[in-house]
Amino acid sequence: MWDFIIIGGGILGMSTAMQLQQAYPDKRLLVVEKESGPARHQTGHNSGVIHAGVYYTPGSLKARFCLEGNRATREFCERHNVDYDICGKLLVATSALERQRMEALWERTATNGLERQWLEAGELREREPNITGVAGIFVPSSGIVDYAAVTRAMAAEFTRLGGEIRYGAEVTALEERREELVVTTSDDTFTSRYLVSCSGLMADRVIRLLGKDPGFTICPFRGEYYRLSERHDRIVNHLIYPIPDPAMPFLGVHLTRMIDGSVTVGPNAVLALKREGYRKQDVSLRDMGQMLSHPGILKVLGKHLKPGLTEMKNSFYKRGYLALVQKYCPSLNESDLTPYPAGVRAQAVSWDGKLVDDFLFVNTRRSVNVGNAPSPAATSALPIGAHIVEQVKALVEA
Ligand SMILES: Cc1cc2nc3c(=O)[nH]c(=O)nc-3n(C[C@H](O)[C@H](O)[C@H](O)COP(=O)(O)OP(=O)(O)OC[C@H]3O[C@@H](n4cnc5c(N)ncnc54)[C@H](O)[C@@H]3O)c2cc1C
Repeated sequence: MWDFIIIGGGILGMSTAMQLQQAYPDKRLLVVEKESGPARHQTGHNSGVIHAGVYYTPGSLKARFCLEGNRATREFCERHNVDYDICGKLLVATSALERQRMEALWERTATNGLERQWLEAGELREREPNITGVAGIFVPSSGIVDYAAVTRAMAAEFTRLGGEIRYGAEVTALEERREELVVTTSDDTFTSRYLVSCSGLMADRVIRLLGKDPGFTICPFRGEYYRLSERHDRIVNHLIYPIPDPAMPFLGVHLTRMIDGSVTVGPNAVLALKREGYRKQDVSLRDMGQMLSHPGILKVLGKHLKPGLTEMKNSFYKRGYLALVQKYCPSLNESDLTPYPAGVRAQAVSWDGKLVDDFLFVNTRRSVNVGNAPSPAATSALPIGAHIVEQVKALVEA
């Protein structure tokens, strides 16, 4: 009998496992992960940005955990010798409309407690000679890291404290009984007193295995990147972001310095026809069937039809994609964009057609389940893990 089983070897599963083992040093903890190693999905396919907390609704879990997570991630990296770089971020407005939206972001960054600096066009050019814009906001606390490396360090700490990890173990059935849970995996069957699920793109399916209606479904959005050719490795000094359209859920194509010294462009946001499907041609009839029969997803697709189709067009036509980044980095051309692996975001959509904005948890008597944890959940992984530990403690003490 295990005391706690954690499903998922992404950054949230490993952060939670590590902190739960720290909170209960004498208890038996097991992580079960269906892949052959950690961080094989969202955690290993993202922009690697340690977000500062610019965009998030004041008072939301995202705003709180991102701010805390920014500091906690740096401290964790220091303690565990994981490379990171607080290179700062520039949000660049390229038109009068974007400047107006930038003013709203300026207010929000103040409410969210961030240090920042307003830059006029000349100051912007001084900081970033290759970037063009009418104004910008500089946020010094944004940084970069390899989240797969952070997750491996968390896994190592978890096992050092006595925790166990089973890779290649896909959870296929769950039964919650009065005193325990039965966790059936492709590898073995386990019993546990409590369960935590951090299953990313499969979050809703795992909650359903518990016999509970999650109240949302996961809609997968592929984020496609290019890598700039090596001669552009020093094209920017900071992370360069457009001013997001408040009507759109994602941040827009940005120029990201990666911790390995390269620079990526992306990600866009294209409806994926398969959860965990990283190539354009990946299709799952099961996943598509579920999406197309979900009234909430149909509503979302209807509402964002035009931008959705544009994203899809730009996904196939490099020139359209390039135009998004040329807006603020005009010197780039098509041959500068070289292939780079895509990621797939897990975005919860409610039955009434809303993209769930904040982090969301669904609990049963013996389980805590992460329902919605899109960006900045990698930045926020340590506070999210701490939050889950508090919820588990409440279940244990109930
Ligand atoms: C393109 C993109 C860019 C992003 N950029 C950033 C960024 O710059 N900064 C930031 O903070 N965040 C970013 N994010 C968000 C961030 O990557 C995710 O929020 C975070 O990685 C979520 O971690 P997770 O552990 O919940 O999910 P995952 O990493 O997806 O892990 C879930 C794990 O559960 C396992 N699993 C699922 N079902 C089962 C089952 N039945 N049995 C066993 N195991 C199972 C999966 O195999 C997987 O390993 C980005 C995401 C994407 C996709």
